[in-house]
Amino acid sequence: MINTDVLIIGGGISGLHTAYQLEKNGISFVLIEARDRLGGRILSANYDSKSRDDNSECNPTYNANKPAYDLGPSWFWPGQKNMEILVQELDLADSVFPQQGNGESLYENQQGDIQRGFHGISMQGIYRMKGGIRQFTSELEKRIANNNIKKSAQANTIEYQNNQIITSFTEKNGSENLTSQISSNKVVIALPPRLAMSTIEFKPLLSETRIKELNNYATWMAGHAKFLAIYDKPFWIEQGFSGDAISQLGPIREIHDASSYPNDSDENGYALFGFIGVPASHRKNNEKEIINAAADQLVRFFGKDAAKPRDIVLQDWAQEKYTATEIDQSMNGGHATSSIYNFTESVFKDQLIWSGTETADHRNGSNGLLEGAIEASKRTLNLLL
Ligand SMILES: Cc1cc2nc3c(=O)[nH]c(=O)nc-3n(C[C@H](O)[C@H](O)[C@H](O)COP(=O)(O)OP(=O)(O)OC[C@H]3O[C@@H](n4cnc5c(N)ncnc54)[C@H](O)[C@@H]3O)c2cc1C
Repeated sequence: MINTDVLIIGGGISGLHTAYQLEKNGISFVLIEARDRLGGRILSANYDSKSRDDNSECNPTYNANKPAYDLGPSWFWPGQKNMEILVQELDLADSVFPQQGNGESLYENQQGDIQRGFHGISMQGIYRMKGGIRQFTSELEKRIANNNIKKSAQANTIEYQNNQIITSFTEKNGSENLTSQISSNKVVIALPPRLAMSTIEFKPLLSETRIKELNNYATWMAGHAKFLAIYDKPFWIEQGFSGDAISQLGPIREIHDASSYPNDSDENGYALFGFIGVPASHRKNNEKEIINAAADQLVRFFGKDAAKPRDIVLQDWAQEKYTATEIDQSMNGGHATSSIYNFTESVFKDQLIWSGTETADHRNGSNGLLEGAIEASKRTLNLLL
């Protein structure tokens, strides 16, 4: 049995931020992460293959020093204080750049007619990261001692025993699954509440009312899918378009430029990304059709130059078992509108802390966002330190 002061469950940006602060304050902790990578909903990759005419698989890698494409979150907003502080703290100011939005936006109606010069859909000026949003999590990871983090380690049971919390988790060791236990004074649940309800058993059981409440918190963006098309040249800019488009016909509902500007070389290419408007249940098992239809749609919008992408990627978050549950299969899950940040579980006293972005205070609208993930971590740290 491992003994520690604090167990953090979940290695997304929120759990990693908590871990980094505990490390700075000399408090013992262990972080367990179910996936074999850290970052959770944050996923950025470099696609530095050269133009290919064959159908070989693209090989995403990640190097924070190269421009990267975001398959999860892309943006944070000017004025988001916690994100601005994090940029300074992790020394990442040189990587921040504004979303490109110069040029005409486009609108497609249900009949496929395209209107130019459409207004109000650009994300121009919103902050992006040159090495992708993953720069935040890789910088946090660098600042945390390796032996405090366990990847491929899924929490299964949280049990209150004699003033301590015993958490059982399954750890992958090659092809074997080993079950181990951690005894801690506090447990921080840094994952979406719905996911906690579906992956973790609580002993004693939480009340039925609480289980229902927690299941009602939609996981932000869990039902969505992102489509990315990478090109050798930013031909849409050369044609006077911003890369922003809205469609009533689909399958992509909303398109934006995903390149890093200024791009210091053409090696990593230029890209457009879109949110797919097809519901998750229809996307499942129809990936190829959706990819083909999305690629055709880019040609409708931007002409024949769009017909030869270097790489195309569909990242379907609804199929990710450590992000989405059965009830997240709809894309309508909005920001929560009540106060999970106040929840305490009497049976676990104040030793069980709900954290992660979904638990940020809904009154300032940051819950669900990166800003909310850091805000929730800071609230958690106030309870821990
Ligand atoms: C497509 C998409 C686009 C988005 N766009 C934006 C954007 O532009 N701007 C913005 O601000 N936000 C955006 N978001 C939201 C943003 O990604 C989240 O706010 C943020 O990443 C949440 O971080 P987190 O640490 O709270 O949760 P998560 O990143 O979900 O981390 C939870 C972690 O817990 C792990 N886990 C789950 N179950 C267990 C278990 N039983 N045991 C151990 N580990 C477990 C998961 O693997 C995961 O790593 C977007 C999200 C998506 C999916």
